[in-house]
Amino acid sequence: MPTYDYLCQSCHNRVSLQMSYTEYGVKKVICPVCGGKQLTRLIGRVRVAKSEGQRLDAMSDPSFLSGVDENDPKSVARAMKRMGQEAGEDLPPEFNEITDRLESGESPDSIEKSMPDLGSEAGGPGDDEY
Ligand SMILES: [Zn+2]
Repeated sequence: MPTYDYLCQSCHNRVSLQMSYTEYGVKKVICPVCGGKQLTRLIGRVRVAKSEGQRLDAMSDPSFLSGVDENDPKSVARAMKRMGQEAGEDLPPEFNEITDRLESGESPDSIEKSMPDLGSEAGGPGDDEY
């Protein structure tokens, strides 16, 4: 059974309550210390990046790169996909293309050169390859 952390607004104790997924959000939570009902859910780890900046922070997180061989495009692609799943939100359309090309063994440098719009929000179709 998962444990949920709460901060009690009455006694300011941090309390951990066990309840099932079906109970969570339905069952009334009561502070086991003072019996107060004003409990604020504490999120232990923020997993979802909310802005571009935070997403970049996640990418520069050393743990993100642990086990990644930067000289192995396939290894980098796997890490990027893992991170994309972790972010769990809309990824730029280029994201899949980049990871696919990395996985096929293309070097990041050559991908960057062929995608001049990379990294700019205003980027759209128009960089036809010929
Ligand atoms: Zn309390």
